[in-house]
Formats: sequence, structure tokens, C-alpha cells
Amino acid sequence: MSNHTLVWTNDMLDGFVIAVASGKGGTGKTTIATNLAHYAAGLGKKVQYLDCDVEEPNGHIFLKPQIDHSQQVTVDIPQVDLEKCIGCGKCDEICQYSAIICIKENVLTFEQLCHSCGGCMRVCPADAIKQKPLNIGDIEFGKAGDIDFVHGKLRIGHVRTPSLIKKVKNHIKQNHLAIIDVPPGISCPVVEAVKGTDFVLLVTEPTPFGFNDLKLAVELLREMNLPFAVVINRYGIGNDEVEKYCKAENIDICLKLPDDRRIAEAYSSGRMIIDELPEYKKHFADLTKVIKVS
Ligand code: SF4
Ligand code: SF4
Repeated sequence: MSNHTLVWTNDMLDGFVIAVASGKGGTGKTTIATNLAHYAAGLGKKVQYLDCDVEEPNGHIFLKPQIDHSQQVTVDIPQVDLEKCIGCGKCDEICQYSAIICIKENVLTFEQLCHSCGGCMRVCPADAIKQKPLNIGDIEFGKAGDIDFVHGKLRIGHVRTPSLIKKVKNHIKQNHLAIIDVPPGISCPVVEAVKGTDFVLLVTEPTPFGFNDLKLAVELLREMNLPFAVVINRYGIGNDEVEKYCKAENIDICLKLPDDRRIAEAYSSGRMIIDELPEYKKHFADLTKVIKVS
């Protein structure tokens, strides 16, 4: 079991990508991600914050960026020309997601199930299927002080979360320290958000639910062979199961943020901890020192 360690140096910051994830929602993941971005930018580093929690992005509440432009994100889905269709059923046969179904001479498409693989278009012998764009969300770009800000917003009713996350990550700047706010959980959107990152901070809280979801998240990251360390938020509540587990599994705990009512107050009013409670700057300074990879 390797102990992941990486020394935070100026060189490393250029093009280094840190994902801030959590096995469950409500652990303070965005608090850690935004304060880390704010702290690193305060050191004079080039920092980019990318909110990939596209179903419910809320980093903007804390960073309060000035949005200067946006772009729509589309994916290609099939559109069938029934005049040309000969009812062969090949599109239905190849689709792994039941997103296109041939019933007698009729072909039905289910755009929310489509994964845009293009298979149906390739196999259609009558050239009856064309691509049409489906708008799944938007990406907004701006500045939060010196921080480059990017966030994705999935359109209500759409389910192509990993596709939108991928598009948000396409905007990672190579010469910046990029901090990715990952969706909660351990499903496909999380896999897409952490894929290819250099380091993952796994935020948890010392409660039975936090502990349970942390273990699942650790399994996922080990499966993906990604270096990671744990942040314990609201340290002091609950029990010491998380600490014992991390010790037994040789996992670094790189920050313990105490259960402090003033942090909760700052959070609930959308303010940054390190601005409101300067004594906590040290915690983020320590965090930047102990993020390690080996
Ligand atoms: S593009 Fe792929 S996923 Fe979408 S309907 Fe065609 S075969 Fe199915
Ligand atoms: S593959 Fe083309 S021709 Fe065959 S059923 Fe599908 S749309 Fe019609």
C-alpha cells in the first residue's frame, strides 16, 4: 500500500491538477476547493478553479466570479429520416443503450439514453440517420480576483453529466495550478472528473456515513491508481474511525479542519474561511506543504 506524497513546489504548480472529491455530499468539499484556490492565488500563483459538480455547482457562491463569457455544450444524437428508413433494425441491434428502437417500419429514438457513440449512423444501410446537436448545458468563464474561474451547468432534465464534465476539463490551462471541484459520490461523473488528475484530496467527516463513503471512494481511487490524501472536515465530531482507518491503510491525512461554528457561519453566508477567520490560513498553508506524491 503506497503512501502518496508530493512536495508542493513552485515548479509543480504549473500544469498540476488537483481534484477535490468526497464520497458523500455535504462534507465541505467546495469549502476546501475554493479556500485552497484562494490561498494559492494569494501566494501569487496562477490558479484556475473548475467546478465540475455540474448538476449543482456552488463554487461561485464563495468565489463570486465576474463571468465574462459562456458557451453552450452540445452532444450529437441521431435523427432518423423515416422516408429513407427501410426498417432493417440494424440501428436497434447495435445500440448498447436502447436509445434507438426499431419496431416494424418505425424507428424511435430516446435522446436521454443516447451516448453519442455514432454506431447507429455507421451501420445504417440506407443513410437514414443524421447527427443532430442536443444542448446539454453551458460552461461559464470568468475571474474571481486573480483566479481563473470555469464552471459547468447541466441543463435541467439532462443526464449527460460525464459529457459536460469532460468538456469543462478541456479548458484546463496547462500553465496554471488547476483545482477541480468534483461531484460527490463514486459514480460515472466522479470517475470522469478525477480521471487524469495529478492528485486527489478526499474530503470526509468523522461520522459513520462519512467513514462508509470514504472507504468506497478510496476503493475507487485505488482502482484508478490515482494518488490521494484525506481531509477531515468538522474534526472533533463523531468518532475516530476515519483516523484509525487511514492509519491502518497508510493513507495521509493532510488537513483536519475543526468543527468550528464560525466556519459553518462563514459557509452558510457564502464567505471564505481564510478571509473571515485568518487563523485558518495556516491550515491551508500546511495543506499545500503536505500534499505529496511518491
Ligand atoms: S449514437 Fe450510439 S448510443 Fe446513440 S442511439 Fe446511436 S448507437 Fe445508440
Ligand atoms: S439502420 Fe437505418 S434503415 Fe435500418 S432501421 Fe435503422 S434507420 Fe432504418
